[in-house]
Amino acid sequence: MRFLPLSLTAHPTAWGLGPAGTEWQEPAKVADAPCRFCGAFAAGRQEAFHLDGDHNNGRSANLVPACTLCHLVQHPDVAARQRSVMLVWLPEISQAALFMLARTAQLDLLDAGADPTLDEPPPKSSGVVDAAWRALSALRAREGQARSRLLTDDPNVLGAALLALTPRAFRGRSNLLSGIRMLPTGRMLVDGKDIYPALLRAWAGRPDAAAKPAPVSTSQPSRTAA
Ligand SMILES: [Zn+2]
Ligand SMILES: [Zn+2]
Repeated sequence: MRFLPLSLTAHPTAWGLGPAGTEWQEPAKVADAPCRFCGAFAAGRQEAFHLDGDHNNGRSANLVPACTLCHLVQHPDVAARQRSVMLVWLPEISQAALFMLARTAQLDLLDAGADPTLDEPPPKSSGVVDAAWRALSALRAREGQARSRLLTDDPNVLGAALLALTPRAFRGRSNLLSGIRMLPTGRMLVDGKDIYPALLRAWAGRPDAAAKPAPVSTSQPSRTAA
């Protein structure tokens, strides 16, 4: 499978979607198949990615399956609400490769009983834990460079700025943003609950029934993120 390119974006029809938005109440139908951007697969949790960004265009040709992280590049406002990503300057790594790298290191930490958010130091040192910790710390160290270029570290502010661009400038956003990436923080807050550990296990093919996120409400389908 050839992966599709992934770039940070914002679209008026996607802005403000969330647990109260139409994408959650009537999620677009998409095959439960590997993410077309990074190859990750979590059974039952794949999301519909609108290729042209237009969330009113639900034609099947416009929808491809994506993992929860790759889908977030179209929903910087949702990412900000969830506190699930930080902006970093990393032109040397593609967005999809960065998602894969981060979640692998975060799963290593989770499996070792350590905190994937790096908030708490690991209870026990080991080769794997130390390597994962160092890798994630090195990636996070690039946050300052993103902030100095964008003058913000808030994905919501960046998304709003993208929406305000002229159509021509918007088409050139890949150049504009060149090395700006979303780095997963190791948490994903949905209704006050961190669903990220369960997602990490699901990506590893080990869905943990006890850790599965609860549906947003009984009247809405269970969606894990943007
Ligand atoms: Zn993906
Ligand atoms: Zn979407």
